[in-house]
Amino acid sequence: MRRPRPPKKHKTVFAPVNGAAPEYFECPACGFLSGDPAFLSPEMPCPLCGAVGGERRRWPADRIRRLDARIRRYQADGESEVVVILAMTLLETILEDLLDRMLAAHGADLKVRRMVMDTQRAIGIRLGKLFPALAGEEFEDAASELGYADFPKRWRRLREARNAFIHDSPFTGPQEHLDPRAADEAMALLDQAYRLFVLMNNRFVADGDHDG
Ligand SMILES: [Zn+2]
Repeated sequence: MRRPRPPKKHKTVFAPVNGAAPEYFECPACGFLSGDPAFLSPEMPCPLCGAVGGERRRWPADRIRRLDARIRRYQADGESEVVVILAMTLLETILEDLLDRMLAAHGADLKVRRMVMDTQRAIGIRLGKLFPALAGEEFEDAASELGYADFPKRWRRLREARNAFIHDSPFTGPQEHLDPRAADEAMALLDQAYRLFVLMNNRFVADGDHDG
């Protein structure tokens, strides 16, 4: 059974971009994410479902924040190749987090979610099959509607560059370098990815009906 989309009355508040992983807080009742620091207080009602009380957990999780901090250090040191490889890993981790939340919003329990994520490991399948099955639309269309039309293409290009660098392809030959431009692009995508995935979370996960 499909739950109806949330009414469009709520507005996502982005966390400031300040050279570190952003800080969002999660409504424990519906999964809504807000970058408004005031939302940390359980007294502030959730703008989507109105819930008060309970712990507002921080998103992204600590393991992602640690990886983010490491990537920014490598970027400051000019280690372009490491930056691209780790940033692509981080983006895939955030996507996994989002898909896991979407599965949960569809009523999948932990066992089912683990099974799906374990058997669907390829990013192409996750974006091309799993996401549309859960969202009811293609990843590219959802990104575009939320104001990030270029993101899927730029992300794919950088994944291809990363893959060409890591895997010596008989068709294209090895790519020798991931240059500073690729690293700058990876950092830009990183900051965009947090915002896009928060928007997708608030659209496809938070529906104000998790208690029911
Ligand atoms: Zn809520």
